[in-house]
Amino acid sequence: MTQTETSVDFVRSIVADDIKSGKFGGRVVTRFPPEPNGYLHIGHAKSVCLNFGLAAEFGGTCNLRFDDTNPSREETEYVESIMEDVRWLGWDWGENLYYASDYFGKLYEFAIQLIEAGKAYVCDLSPEEIRETRGTLTEPGKESPFRNRSVEENLDLFHRMRAGEFEEGARVLRAKIDMAANNLNLRDPVMYRILKQSHHRTGDEWPIYPMYDFAHGQSDSIEGVTHSVCTLEFEVHRPLYDWFLDELGIYHSQQIEFARLNITHTVLSKRRLMELVNGGYVNGWDDPRMPTLSGLRRRGYTPEAIREFCDRIGVARRDNTVEISLLEHALRDDLNKRSPRVMGVLDPLKVVIENYPEGRSEEIMSVNNPEDMSMGERPVLFSRTVYIERDDFSEDPPPKFYRLSPGREIRLKDAYYITCTGVVKDEATGEITELRCTYDPETYGGTSADGRKVRGTSHWVSAEQAVDAEVRIYDHLFVTEDPDDLPEGGDFKDNLNPESLVVLRGCKLEQGLDQAKPGERFQFLRQGYFCVDLDSTPEAPVFNRTVALRDTWARMDQARRKVR
Ligand code: ATP
Ligand code: MG
Repeated sequence: MTQTETSVDFVRSIVADDIKSGKFGGRVVTRFPPEPNGYLHIGHAKSVCLNFGLAAEFGGTCNLRFDDTNPSREETEYVESIMEDVRWLGWDWGENLYYASDYFGKLYEFAIQLIEAGKAYVCDLSPEEIRETRGTLTEPGKESPFRNRSVEENLDLFHRMRAGEFEEGARVLRAKIDMAANNLNLRDPVMYRILKQSHHRTGDEWPIYPMYDFAHGQSDSIEGVTHSVCTLEFEVHRPLYDWFLDELGIYHSQQIEFARLNITHTVLSKRRLMELVNGGYVNGWDDPRMPTLSGLRRRGYTPEAIREFCDRIGVARRDNTVEISLLEHALRDDLNKRSPRVMGVLDPLKVVIENYPEGRSEEIMSVNNPEDMSMGERPVLFSRTVYIERDDFSEDPPPKFYRLSPGREIRLKDAYYITCTGVVKDEATGEITELRCTYDPETYGGTSADGRKVRGTSHWVSAEQAVDAEVRIYDHLFVTEDPDDLPEGGDFKDNLNPESLVVLRGCKLEQGLDQAKPGERFQFLRQGYFCVDLDSTPEAPVFNRTVALRDTWARMDQARRKVR
């Protein structure tokens, strides 16, 4: 899908129509309203790109608003990580940073306005009683015995709630709408509850806090948001938001709902992700297996790849699940263009080139990126002892194995042709510990003057200059496509992939890679894209495999589907 195609999704056409009709005086103000109770994930990226993208495309602004109405679950750590992640994605809210908690005073006044209008009342039912009297989809709810309190009594009680006179759970403020409404959200929903908890921004100033539903629409209104874009689950809340705005007689934003992003082999819910973090199933929010933006960043994802992915999936109103291979595809596309190529041997097998002089080494020139010659070349040292990948050798090669085997000649990438002349084994275990080879000095650069062809080319690393590194190989976090597809009583964590992280030690990387900085990205020839992990130091380098080179996962999925 291209840029032009995404520009006609239904949200963009609504905004374009509103500009044409002058509905909001041609203004476009959107917002991204995260609750700071966890780290952002790739699903949030869809919303971020949509809201900031709309503002950018239509010459408007996009607010970053923290929906921090619930003191018990919110922390400054999350606020900071969210800002970092939005910036990393490449978006800028400029001066438009807001907090719902900034509106606590205003929301309190709104509540009083509704009480005075006879549209809200203080209710002494317990939370359980309120739930029990709410009714069901087929049965109306029961009116609270406190529903017809006088305005004076309601005002008095609400002021005393605000003054901290009552215990948590003793009373709430409810909207007086309709206990028989078909939409359960309209059955006298709670507007305010008592919570004797410190808030990350307002401290102990408030013993009562507005419910999300009472804060959200009014926050949009206060900020003059034109298009309040949210996910489908809020569609049934819209009549309530409209009721509040109508009764208060204040400015209406237009709410537009779209389908949230789901991706195979992972979960996109802060609650679930929190469970994985707190239970030690992963190593924190930024574990490279996590679908969080901080996890993807640490894994080596680029913001460009994520934005491209968000463009490609588009915006629609129907719920669907996107294959994780599509995200990986967008990533490969981007990394292919920008990553310098280097050589790294993950499972090293020593090769001694018997006719290469001891103590000598020479520079081999190697292209940094065949996709982008402007990235130049670099010298790589070659010497008598090199490492190749263990599975690039077979003592007893099966048909169609074109790599190294006894008596066979292959090319060492950009260097020389070598021929295997002997195999050294550990006498006790029978394991191959070393290969003996000869090289042809007439094949410098990996081409032979006599036109002789070889079928295999191996990457290699010179033993003397090799950098020893730890390499972390990642696979899907969950073995099943939908981790929530569970038998009765099952737990989504039962579907975790026990091999989502495999740590390889003693990998041999090209010289100089010990100096690469955390976050730097490379393609290891034939092995995939890798980046330097945050844990890495020059003394103990650590690399993450961001993604394998080929779409092996997509092919595996296809094979599996055929079997089914
Ligand atoms: P979660 O379900 O992961 O806890 P949330 O919706 O509770 O997410 P919020 O902080 O309220 O998280 O989300 C901020 C914004 O991001 C909201 O507008 C929400 O609709 C949007 N959003 C959250 N998850 C997704 C998703 N998977 N796809 C698209 N948008 C999402
Ligand atoms: Mg939420």
